[in-house]
Amino acid sequence: MNFVFPPQTAVVPVAGSDAMFPVHRIYCVGRNYVEHAKEMGATGREAPFFFMKPADAVLPVAHGTIGEMPYPGMTNDLHHEVELVVAIGKGGTNIAAADATQHVWGYAVGLDMTRRDLQGEAKKLGRPWCTGKGFDFSAPISPIHPITETGSIVQGEIRLDVNGATRQNSNMEKLIWNVAETIEHLSKYYALQPGDLIFTGTPEGVAAVRQGDLLEATIESVGDLRVRIV
Ligand code: MN
Repeated sequence: MNFVFPPQTAVVPVAGSDAMFPVHRIYCVGRNYVEHAKEMGATGREAPFFFMKPADAVLPVAHGTIGEMPYPGMTNDLHHEVELVVAIGKGGTNIAAADATQHVWGYAVGLDMTRRDLQGEAKKLGRPWCTGKGFDFSAPISPIHPITETGSIVQGEIRLDVNGATRQNSNMEKLIWNVAETIEHLSKYYALQPGDLIFTGTPEGVAAVRQGDLLEATIESVGDLRVRIV
């Protein structure tokens, strides 16, 4: 094909392999843990809602290394949100929760980095969240672990330490909408495709980070992700 310049594909490494997972889209679930929904001002169970990041917002971090995330411009309030990431291997629409696991290729540890001041302003003004959520390097991510090795994930510890102090610590069994239910809802709105990533939401404890901070995220059955803000 005669491209006018080389096409770019965002990729995330597969754990324990030289294979690469090409990223198609990044979907994110908002307010998907009860205690986080409360800290963001929600009351009661609401239907899941979604936002997106550009595919090339991923910042892949190889196993055993520390990724470097540049502190972004236009914010004074960069927040961490540790999240289980689901990697889709088989597409579909109107996927029933009971069938959802067949569409999962694997899992990764992710950070939904957020310019909270811009997101807050957008909420107040009824404007889109794009600048608050979908900026460059806003999606640090570990290698993807195939579901054939992890099994289906429905519970397990999810934790984030900053400079050695625990900021977020919960269990994925506390997801308001679990992975299967999230896929069911999301696939009503979009045709899921191989290569889609779903950031499934963060537990309570979101807070600001500064240049120099070391973020260490751990998800049981998946692995860890270390990122320094530079
Ligand atoms: Mn999030």
